[in-house]
Amino acid sequence: MTGYGKPLPMTDERNRPFWEGARRGELCLQRCVGCHAFRLPASRYCPGCGGDGGEWARVTGRGTLESFCLFHKAYFPGFEGEVPYNVAVVRLAEGARLFTNIVGVPNDRLRIGMPVEACFDPVTPEVTLVKFKPAGDR
Ligand code: ZN
Repeated sequence: MTGYGKPLPMTDERNRPFWEGARRGELCLQRCVGCHAFRLPASRYCPGCGGDGGEWARVTGRGTLESFCLFHKAYFPGFEGEVPYNVAVVRLAEGARLFTNIVGVPNDRLRIGMPVEACFDPVTPEVTLVKFKPAGDR
């Protein structure tokens, strides 16, 4: 046990570059070598063109809050002091979407469509989570 008290992501060979990037403070996504679409989660085949080539690239980390909900119940001990907490869907500027948490803003200030940018939360020595905060001046 790590003492973290919350579930940790499943990491494997396919998604390892994503998690290695997060530890460096970089958001990295798999990109199709055929149609250049970014995809997340990483997969063998591109859902857009069916091609099986993929490369990894660092992306901007900028996106918009597409949806969110608030959890009022702690399903894991590590969340007991944090309810209600948000779980959000962010659509990245590059088109891919991911589930995450929005930090640095009260839940009652969350707005669909608000610009956000990635930030990095090292929760264990091995795992750094990608979260998002309101985007600063550009
Ligand atoms: Zn493709």
